[in-house]
Amino acid sequence: MKYIIDHDLHNHSLVSPCSRDSRQSKEAILAYALTNNYSLIGLSDHLWPDTRDQIWSYLEDLPQSNRCRFLKGAEVEMHMSGDVVIYDNELEKVDYYILALTHVHLLGYVTDPAKAPLSVEATAQYVKERIYKALSMDLPFERVGLAHITWIPQPAGHHITECLALFSDQEWEDIFGKIANLGMGVELNLRPLDYSPEQLPQVLRPYQIAKKMGCKFYLGGDAHHPEDFTQNRVEKFQAVIDLLDLTEDDKWEFVKQNRI
Ligand SMILES: [Zn+2]
Ligand SMILES: [Zn+2]
Repeated sequence: MKYIIDHDLHNHSLVSPCSRDSRQSKEAILAYALTNNYSLIGLSDHLWPDTRDQIWSYLEDLPQSNRCRFLKGAEVEMHMSGDVVIYDNELEKVDYYILALTHVHLLGYVTDPAKAPLSVEATAQYVKERIYKALSMDLPFERVGLAHITWIPQPAGHHITECLALFSDQEWEDIFGKIANLGMGVELNLRPLDYSPEQLPQVLRPYQIAKKMGCKFYLGGDAHHPEDFTQNRVEKFQAVIDLLDLTEDDKWEFVKQNRI
């Protein structure tokens, strides 16, 4: 059976500093899910130091529907020290989290300013190191998703495809083979129409290799504003599902277990 668009696990609300949009309430996020007949939705605000308290209080009492489960989640960073920034007691408070390894532009938090990668080559190397470090950690991978792995900020004037070209097929096979074994979900967040016909195959390549290695996928729109829900969100998910020719067998087990 073809992969069904029945969930979205990457959503930001008004408490994320990159949203700060009063219209982006948890009620609006549930309404987006119901409009599109999703049976699972998740809130994944940034657990940044200055927003933690606000996020925990906003996650309480998420509105629910008998047609759609609303899960407590978070978008979590790997700190420049190498630690994944979620504390033990916090892990009990979320149903899942998505791990962002590519926010390399967050200097002073994710990236040590003294070691900031200044070239495409250094950026690729830095992200590879972060991926391997994360995969070697003792994390509850069956409820951890890998956020937007092909969204990596580049030095000015450079395109993501230059960076992705520095990951060989063999490296991706090694990375995604480990991810498949760990049971970690791989986020589908890319929007095919954002790329030219020449760029698209380069951005799709990691996901094609992930599929070949047995990885399982979840959908994550990364919405920050209500417009992100209305601007062909489902069509964008469908485009990537079609390009990767995904079926329900390719869906992350966590989604299958938690959808209504
Ligand atoms: Zn992110
Ligand atoms: Zn996000």
